[in-house]
Amino acid sequence: MSDYDAPAAYSLFACHECGLLHHAHPVNEGEVARCSRCGARFYRRRRNSIQRALALSFASLVLFALANGFTFMTFKLEGRESSNILASGVAELYDQGLLPLAILVAMVAIIIPLIKILGTLYVVLPLHLGWRPPFAGAVFRWVEVLHPWAMMEVYMLGVLVAYVKLVDMATIELGISLYSFAVLIVVMAATDAALEPHAVWERLRKSTGAPPPAVADRDSLVGCHACDLVCRVRPSEPLSHAVCPRCGAHLHRRKANSLTRTAALVMTAAILYIPANVFPVMTVISFGKGAPDTILSGIKELIHADMWPLALLVFFASITVPVLKLIGLSYLLISVKIGSRWRLKDRTRMYRIIEGIGRWSMIDIFMISILIALVKLDAIATIEPGVGAIAFAGVVVITMFASICFDPRLMWDAAGANRDGH
Ligand SMILES: [Zn+2]
Ligand SMILES: [Zn+2]
Repeated sequence: MSDYDAPAAYSLFACHECGLLHHAHPVNEGEVARCSRCGARFYRRRRNSIQRALALSFASLVLFALANGFTFMTFKLEGRESSNILASGVAELYDQGLLPLAILVAMVAIIIPLIKILGTLYVVLPLHLGWRPPFAGAVFRWVEVLHPWAMMEVYMLGVLVAYVKLVDMATIELGISLYSFAVLIVVMAATDAALEPHAVWERLRKSTGAPPPAVADRDSLVGCHACDLVCRVRPSEPLSHAVCPRCGAHLHRRKANSLTRTAALVMTAAILYIPANVFPVMTVISFGKGAPDTILSGIKELIHADMWPLALLVFFASITVPVLKLIGLSYLLISVKIGSRWRLKDRTRMYRIIEGIGRWSMIDIFMISILIALVKLDAIATIEPGVGAIAFAGVVVITMFASICFDPRLMWDAAGANRDGH
């Protein structure tokens, strides 16, 4: 027995990356259905998707409690020691007057992962028991929207960099929290792998009794950008009032003001990129002497210490990724403006990579939040965050929003690929 909900043969949905309308077709166990035109991933057939996601979400909740309730790391130097918990970095950023960074780290490392676990449980537990909880569509939509903002695995890499930086100068002990946190990352990744959003959306559609749309006049069909359901809208009704019957998202043919918003965000991020690299991101004060570190000087230090793999990792995450995102998004914007028909499929793939890779730039920010909370031995050693860290976090967050605002379907529209029955 499998709980996989085969999409009804007649159910239609629109590719969220190129806009092509598809008839859902059943796939074999483990197979992935992809867009025939741009290669975007649609859904995959998985056995017992909902039961497994339910079990793993319960496990995640227990691990989350362990990860937040105990000591994360202990730092020992010159007979003195200081410990932190997962939330210490947040408290320390707040104490040092960097409220925006405190909020950001709290959200992406603690609050959003928790919302994701609870939101998933809220939807899959009742579905497993055979009923539909109130607002299930909206809750599951938010679980999916928040997905790129749950950055625990990136945080863990920040922990690794912080650990390597400290381990030569002091004794570092790893606490129960850190181990629980590491297991939590694996279990949450397993939850994502087990949970097939399409299966959840199909169950939610059936439970509302919403009829699958029939192919009619294509102009009256709009694909929901949140759950991919194709909805029929009355031509007389203004689209701004239309809401997806399954997930409650507002319906747009394309993301609203996509080009203007993306361009504005790209420009803001490009400007912020300058202070992010010029100003120090943190200052290590040891026995009264302090040396401010910029992102680049932090990487040089890792190279001097012969930590090449780590230096390359930080260089890639902090320097290469933001620059590639800014150049890549600018290029995609220009390609839409000039109506380029060139390599549409590759440009769509490029967008997919830009969208997926941005969160990894947060490594340095997490490393700083860990260091300032851990290294607090007054005169012996202290680490203070610098203003460059706020600018850098701004670059990461703004470029993430920029890639979310960009609508890759506009590239296909601009090239004329979505005209005449396509
Ligand atoms: Zn497509
Ligand atoms: Zn929807």
